Amino acid sequence: MNFEDLKKFFFRKPKNALEGTEDAAPDSRPASEAAIPEKLVEKCEKCGQIILSDELRDNFGICPKCGHYKKIDARARIALCAEQFEELFEGVEGGNPLDFPGYDEKLASLRAKTGEKDAVVCGTAAIGGVRCALFSMDYRFQMGSMGHAVGEKITALFEYATANRLPVVGFILSGGARMQEGIVSLMQMAKTSAAVAKHSEAGLLYIAVLTDPTTGGVSASFAFEADVIIAEKGALIGFAGPRVIEQTIRQKLPAGFQRAEFLQEKGFVDRIVGRREMPALLASLLQLHCAAGEGEEETSAPAPASSAAAAAQAAQAAADAAAKDASSAAPAAEEGGKAAEEGGKEVTA
Ligand SMILES: [Zn+2]
Repeated sequence: MNFEDLKKFFFRKPKNALEGTEDAAPDSRPASEAAIPEKLVEKCEKCGQIILSDELRDNFGICPKCGHYKKIDARARIALCAEQFEELFEGVEGGNPLDFPGYDEKLASLRAKTGEKDAVVCGTAAIGGVRCALFSMDYRFQMGSMGHAVGEKITALFEYATANRLPVVGFILSGGARMQEGIVSLMQMAKTSAAVAKHSEAGLLYIAVLTDPTTGGVSASFAFEADVIIAEKGALIGFAGPRVIEQTIRQKLPAGFQRAEFLQEKGFVDRIVGRREMPALLASLLQLHCAAGEGEEETSAPAPASSAAAAAQAAQAAADAAAKDASSAAPAAEEGGKAAEEGGKEVTA
């Protein structure tokens, strides 16, 4: 082999038309595939089959071939379960409290890529006709890790819900506390837990929906502080990773450890639900717990009075309730209004 041949062998011409134009290899893909830009199709992580992105989206991120649950972003999750949604605290964003190298750039690129300020979206919503406060975490933003902004928004949402006497529904997805914010992110565990506790002391309902994955500092705080804990089928739920636990306790872990089904068996999860069944279950839980509660009158559509007698009876009941609660309700309502006003300010900030 002479030098020219060797050169050709070792310095092969690029096959990509963008890198070298003189001898660009023709597109070897079949015409049908070549005509479809990459973004229109996706490969299932589990079965490896090619699925149209539109089909996957219309199917709530469930692979139509094998039933695998692809992670869905915060807003897709909200759209799946809520009939109506108004965002709150969207202006809250975190910084780089420890001057962690490269973190500012990382945040900037994630914000540009996802269109979100941080890893959680909060607001008020209607599910099954019941008004509630809702938060949804986003895997695209550092796998939903909790830094200052996430903790702040979730805390503010629980405070808003307490002041306005709303139930809270949380779609949880998190890799845990955000490493780049160190102790500041660990602080969020205490902060969110305090807000959840106040919401609970006010007698209000909190439903947590644990999705894949729910781990670390989030599982050790607000994820497991709910009244009702639902998990999505097959979700990874735990605190530390299985390898760390095996090394610590020096025992082999059982099969299926840290999966939703295992946790239900051990009593940590109340119910496992498929993604398609989630909206109906949330609606019935909220209707069951909140239909007779406060906050209902302003949300659900007025029930058509079947007869004048029923209307009169309802009016009498309302009057009785008003008379009974007149003293305590007034300041509470005022406080609620004030909090709502503050919430509104936050949105515009
Ligand atoms: Zn699949």
